[in-house]
Amino acid sequence: MSQLPLILVVEDNQRNARLVTTILQANGYQVTVAGDGQSATAALRDTLPQLILMDLQLPDVDGLTLTRQFKSVPETAHIPIIALTAHVLEEHQTQAIEAGCCGFVSKPISYKAFLQTVADAIAIECGDVCGTVS
Ligand code: MN
Repeated sequence: MSQLPLILVVEDNQRNARLVTTILQANGYQVTVAGDGQSATAALRDTLPQLILMDLQLPDVDGLTLTRQFKSVPETAHIPIIALTAHVLEEHQTQAIEAGCCGFVSKPISYKAFLQTVADAIAIECGDVCGTVS
């Protein structure tokens, strides 16, 4: 069994999913990719990751809705979720935080800032910071 932290990347854009996967694997993370909400839910039944990167626009479900679902289930409520989106408006960031996300990464991603956000999210005790849906 590897001790590398596992990250679930929920992203339907294959090019972006590949980019994120490449960056994360090069920096010592294991990655599972899910292309829609149904696959993401199935992946969580299989293995619980240390972090979820959540694209907010998915083919079958809104990423914020999916975030609220994961945050409402005891098994997955503790997993930090970072929103991944092209939306840069402050309003959207607020919505992501309210849904239970503990961080926010804008696409196109900035390599260094992205890795810092990921490391910070994995390091925190998520229950204290972002486990509560307001
Ligand atoms: Mn998308």
